[in-house]
Amino acid sequence: MISITLPDGSVREYDKGITSMQIALSISEGLARNVLAAEVNGEVWDASRSIEEDSSVKLLTWNDAKGKATYWHSSAHLLAEALEALYPGTKFGIGPAIETGFYYDVDFGDKPFSSDDFKKIEDKVIELAKAKNEYIRKPVSKADAIAYFTEKGDEYKLDLIKDLPDGSITFYTQGNFTDLCRGPHIPNTGAIKAVKLMSVAGAYWRGDESRKQLTRIYGVTYPKASELTDYLHLIEEAKKRDHRKLGKELELFAFSEKVGMGLPLWLPKGTALRERLTNFLQKAQVKSGYEQVITPHIGHKNLYVTSGHYEKYGADAFQPIKTPQEGEEFFLKPMNCPHHCEIYKTKPRSYKDLPVRLAEFGTVYRYEQSGELHGLTRVRGFTQDDAHLFCRPDQVKEEFKKVIDLVLYVFAALGFDSYTAQVSLRDPNNKTKYIGTDENWALAESAIIEAAAEKNLTTVVEYGEAAFYGPKLDFMVKDALGRKWQLGTIQVDYNLPERFELEYTGADNQKHRPVMIHRAPFGSLERFVAVLIEHCAGNFPLWLSPEQFIILPISEKYEDYAKKLSDELKDSDICGLIDFRDEKIGRKIRDAEVKKIPYMLIVGEKEATEGLVSVRRHGTGDLGSMSIEDFKKQIIKEITV
Ligand SMILES: [Zn+2]
Ligand SMILES: [Zn+2]
Repeated sequence: MISITLPDGSVREYDKGITSMQIALSISEGLARNVLAAEVNGEVWDASRSIEEDSSVKLLTWNDAKGKATYWHSSAHLLAEALEALYPGTKFGIGPAIETGFYYDVDFGDKPFSSDDFKKIEDKVIELAKAKNEYIRKPVSKADAIAYFTEKGDEYKLDLIKDLPDGSITFYTQGNFTDLCRGPHIPNTGAIKAVKLMSVAGAYWRGDESRKQLTRIYGVTYPKASELTDYLHLIEEAKKRDHRKLGKELELFAFSEKVGMGLPLWLPKGTALRERLTNFLQKAQVKSGYEQVITPHIGHKNLYVTSGHYEKYGADAFQPIKTPQEGEEFFLKPMNCPHHCEIYKTKPRSYKDLPVRLAEFGTVYRYEQSGELHGLTRVRGFTQDDAHLFCRPDQVKEEFKKVIDLVLYVFAALGFDSYTAQVSLRDPNNKTKYIGTDENWALAESAIIEAAAEKNLTTVVEYGEAAFYGPKLDFMVKDALGRKWQLGTIQVDYNLPERFELEYTGADNQKHRPVMIHRAPFGSLERFVAVLIEHCAGNFPLWLSPEQFIILPISEKYEDYAKKLSDELKDSDICGLIDFRDEKIGRKIRDAEVKKIPYMLIVGEKEATEGLVSVRRHGTGDLGSMSIEDFKKQIIKEITV
């Protein structure tokens, strides 16, 4: 007998050689039907593989990331089987699972191939899936593996086998298709109910441009047709909300090759939106005792030698700017913290002065490879809503809790009601990656964990995800489409105060080191605006809208009334514009809808004589006519909520 430990800690006895599928069956038939694979002592195995010794076993289903990955990788084998059936002589490279779905790199020889062939292949995949063929694992010797693929004439598989040690090679067969693979796979093809081939691209064999370019076919499969439909709908919706597309349509930001890749240009409307965000945060920060500072965009090399950034990142940063005369070296600032440490040092600090909270909307520059750049989410220059809190060790936890409050206040005000937090700790097995003493790390890590617990945050703990100078708490929000984005971050740092020799005088009249907390609720304004655009599909909350209203005069005759109305609203800090174009009112309304302007105010004869406005709300429609006073009241109420 062997002992099997399940994730809930329970231990069950089974005969040696039991499989995970049999374990699942001994628990419930319903569970067994859903089992895709199993994690045995931390390694993902086929559910049909025998377990020979005492083990811990976690059964994997569609709800586990590793279960999904196994399912999608198995689907790649099925795609290969379909391709081989439809295009005999096709050679196969690799077919891994990816974040959503899978791909297979194949060589069709000189046969043409395009996405027009997708339907035919999808039908074949479903036909083969219905056969419920098992994925059968078979260890083979290196000689036999070479013999098999030599006869088949697949040089790619032979190239892969070349690097594998004898005794480690396995084949998997389902139906008429045999592949070289270490596995694992799902029990049989029957679980694959819906398939969609997404795209086709070129991919060099082993990523080497000097080698043959293969055809990469991307696909996705689901255990239910309705799940595939939902997924395809999500993709469509995501395309419509793409911040790069909406950013252009709403005239928020732009990029120019002349200015440089990854360097966003904020257009007037985008700037208005961004300023409202910064004003909002600044106001909340002033209430929480922050002081605003401004520092330059560059810093002397010595600053970063002191901070440790030079040693750690110098080679991968924008290279230094040199002065013509003295030959001094300056770096574009990659972060604001070293500058803020120098501000802290401008005067002696006493324990009574702490915490010192220095905030700056500081623009920083980080080198990213051009292929990595993406809209506003991956850029080379961006503005952090940064602040550094210098406090006494006994204040760390309290300060940390206050920052959590601020982050949650920001999320609530912007309609992100679903979020999780990740506690990122040091990799205990690779301590050389980090600077600072073990004792300080232990202190910082427990402060974060305790503060998060006292604020009732739902957290996951990840080892090895900490910054090199300290552990951190990262916030992930879920947007309206259920996608996760990393936004705000709070980091404890015991290291920079040490490197900059920061001090305060304690109650004991001795010198002590303050502790530093870095925090940025938005992360960066660029990334935050990108996420916000996609979250609300460009329909910003009224208080953030760059244009809150547009006045649409029915004809030239009512322009004076429109101007008077506009001035009156602007006096109450409600901003917008007038559509003076000589267009039909229907056209003016349609154009305002496209621009997603929240309020459309239509003015004609009746409105002008009676001092009224005829109000339309974007996405809602006609709200009827009301007095200017009532409209102002309504809009002010909405903004303050
Ligand atoms: Zn495989
Ligand atoms: Zn910092």
